[in-house]
Amino acid sequence: MKTEQKADVLVVAAHPDDAEFGAAGSVARWSREGRRVVYVVCTDGEKGTSDRSVKVQDLAAIRRREQEAAGKRLGVGQVVFLGYPDQGLEDTPEFRKEIVRVIRLFRPDTVVTSDPYRRYLWHRDHRISGQVVLDAVFPYARDHLAYPDLLEEGLEPHKVREILFWAAEQINYKVDVTETFDLKLAALQCHESQVQGFPFTDPRTWLLDRARSVAEGESYELAEGFYRVEIPS
Ligand SMILES: [Zn+2]
Repeated sequence: MKTEQKADVLVVAAHPDDAEFGAAGSVARWSREGRRVVYVVCTDGEKGTSDRSVKVQDLAAIRRREQEAAGKRLGVGQVVFLGYPDQGLEDTPEFRKEIVRVIRLFRPDTVVTSDPYRRYLWHRDHRISGQVVLDAVFPYARDHLAYPDLLEEGLEPHKVREILFWAAEQINYKVDVTETFDLKLAALQCHESQVQGFPFTDPRTWLLDRARSVAEGESYELAEGFYRVEIPS
């Protein structure tokens, strides 16, 4: 994994398309504002099909391509694939260290990921990745003694300023996505292999309804909602 540039925002998703559902309107907005956004996708989502004729390795390649295309629509600077098995994420020291590695490499102010505490039906990969990202941000990426070997590689400790969790049951932070809603829709539609399995037939209406209800009471029309946690300095 190579990088020459730091990221302002690091988005960590369990599967391709998670970040589009959760945060694509915000991602497009941040990109427009000049913030560099980098995606880290933990698995290739290679079990995400009900089509019995599709081979796992083919689907993995398809979904990586779809994720790259979606990222491009949103202005994402780089997409990093970690290649963990779909439906196989576990809270292991090895996975945590890998997330610490990308945080120290890209040195973001903001990390965005899935809320691990959503009840009850919640994909295990979303729950595990959210928890591991939270732990990696605080305290493991921050503390120099956490990984002396990473330090030796030149990966200095890094303090993230805030984490935004998508799919949170309780929202305390909203992003106005009125201007970037169409990009969110376009990015989501890049995930062609998934469209049939989406929990709706008309993505535009479904997304609009949700974005409108999140924006309720605000001066703008459409929003994405997050649970924001500020990291004490
Ligand atoms: Zn997912």
